[in-house]
Amino acid sequence: MARNVAFNGVGHLVAPSLADARMLMYQSKVDRELFDVIDLDPYGSPAPFLDAAVQAVSEGGLLCVTCTDMGVMAGNSAETCYSKYGAVSLKGKFCHEMALRIILHSLDLRANCYQRFIVPLLSVSADFYIRVFVRVFTGQAKVKASASKQALVYHCVGCGTHHLQRLGKATSHGTGFKYGAATGPPVGSSCEFCQQRHQLGGPMWAEPLHDLAFVQRVLAALESSPGRFRTEERIRGMLSVVTEELGDVPLYYTLDSLSGTIHCNTPSLLQFRSALLHAGYRVSLSHACKNAVKTDAPPAVLWDIMRCWAKIHPVKRERLAETSPASRILAVEPTLQASFALRDDANPSSRKRGLKRFPENPEAFWGPKARAKAGRSGSDTRTSGRSGQTTAPA
Ligand SMILES: [Zn+2]
Repeated sequence: MARNVAFNGVGHLVAPSLADARMLMYQSKVDRELFDVIDLDPYGSPAPFLDAAVQAVSEGGLLCVTCTDMGVMAGNSAETCYSKYGAVSLKGKFCHEMALRIILHSLDLRANCYQRFIVPLLSVSADFYIRVFVRVFTGQAKVKASASKQALVYHCVGCGTHHLQRLGKATSHGTGFKYGAATGPPVGSSCEFCQQRHQLGGPMWAEPLHDLAFVQRVLAALESSPGRFRTEERIRGMLSVVTEELGDVPLYYTLDSLSGTIHCNTPSLLQFRSALLHAGYRVSLSHACKNAVKTDAPPAVLWDIMRCWAKIHPVKRERLAETSPASRILAVEPTLQASFALRDDANPSSRKRGLKRFPENPEAFWGPKARAKAGRSGSDTRTSGRSGQTTAPA
């Protein structure tokens, strides 16, 4: 670390420490020397550091958190996710965005213990990890709103339809808000489309993932210093998609899972997006998934559009089991007459401009490598982490 500090000429700014990061952060609170920025990027889960971090960051300060334990957060081990983050993960198509919402839920809840709350600036899913940037503020009155910012997720195991259930209710009351219990559930005991059961996930953060004004400033900064970052193209592509995302619509569907459920061929992204726009709804992509359909259209409208599509591109019904989600969904006549005529506004600007939005892996076997082994004194492998931030000169 000392060599690296010297190499970058930042000795006047950086004080390296080998202390337990948690002790360092708690001590900063005792000394009233809070950190303006805390960046947690440990090997594996950052969960053990969150409690110390949310109280050691200065008022309005920046907290950046990287999670590389995507198996746990994307639904492979929901019980482990609960033990680390206080939320049950689901293996839905929306799992990468849900992982972002789970870490935000966990951060907000832990901040609440100290009468603090988070405001997300940017939350991204990239390669094999997720990274969130949040500001932390103090305010007992605003902490009261936190329950109503979280939601449980009902996810149908048959057709993949999802519904959200907020944990609390905030009602505007003159100059302020009144808080109470939410009412629910949003679903019956079985799915209204395919009659199968729902899995229950969450709670997760159900408010916007990004502060768009902040993201625009980052994009502007990128344009004003071309060539500064090697990953410039990728940053521009990803952040452009981020600015197009519907901020008030948590989670998404994917085009191939909608068509896969009813065993029909897949409409093009433009056809499907056009159908949603013709029906009077909003639709966007998600940076977290290549063929995501994020929309404020209720699930009933999505399935009606798919039923209309299946009328033009017939499904071989005789091959479907009577109790399959496909049979049950297709047995109902659509009430909406979907139009798939292409609309110019169905093509997202980031796509029109040909930005590098969803890059492929740069090499074979790309991804997190094995954990560095401890205890080989004198060897460089002792401190090298996944990111190599502390050992490799920039
Ligand atoms: Zn269903």
